[in-house]
Amino acid sequence: MTPSTVQWQVTTHGPDQAIALGRCIGQAIQTNLFIALSGDLGAGKTTFTKGLVAGMGIPAPVTSPTFTLINDYETERGLQARRLVHVDVYRLETASTAELDGIGFSDLMDDLEAPDTPGLLVLVVEWADRLGPLLPQHRLDVISAPHADDPDARLVTLRAWGLTAESLLQHSQKAWR
Ligand code: ADP
Ligand code: MG
Repeated sequence: MTPSTVQWQVTTHGPDQAIALGRCIGQAIQTNLFIALSGDLGAGKTTFTKGLVAGMGIPAPVTSPTFTLINDYETERGLQARRLVHVDVYRLETASTAELDGIGFSDLMDDLEAPDTPGLLVLVVEWADRLGPLLPQHRLDVISAPHADDPDARLVTLRAWGLTAESLLQHSQKAWR
């Protein structure tokens, strides 16, 4: 059964607002979550992730995972631990299961679905559309597109799949502004 969806569209005017949007969502996350980022090079996927990491209270400078493929950010371990793993699958040949196993992605998916793992895990994937059938059904999609009139504006479409992501999105939308 396909999970239910809720959608929210926001225009961000400049990178600061893109970071603020990520922060707004990062602050509202309360359960493990998969976030699928899409949009062309320069759309703002990494910029948005900077905000997510900050919003989750992880004090780390975020850099692009284009070459490292996976960047791992976390607070200190413990009950309140929060971890964000930032993956970029752009450079993978096929994003096949074997290739994803090789970069540790499959283990991360298992961790995400392990209900009794302490702390919070958020898996953020740039170019997530390349995952094909490996894309989880329950997730938050963040689709960034250029704006016709302003080179520093992006139309961001946030689409929640499933109840957890839906309630996160509704909560974030109320908190925005
Ligand atoms: P991606 O990861 O999608 O390739 P980046 O986040 O690395 O994109 O780059 C986006 C670039 O566009 C950055 O240089 C950022 O400063 C700039 N930018 C300008 N306006 C925006 C906006 N509204 N949202 C996101 N990035 C923006
Ligand atoms: Mg990027």
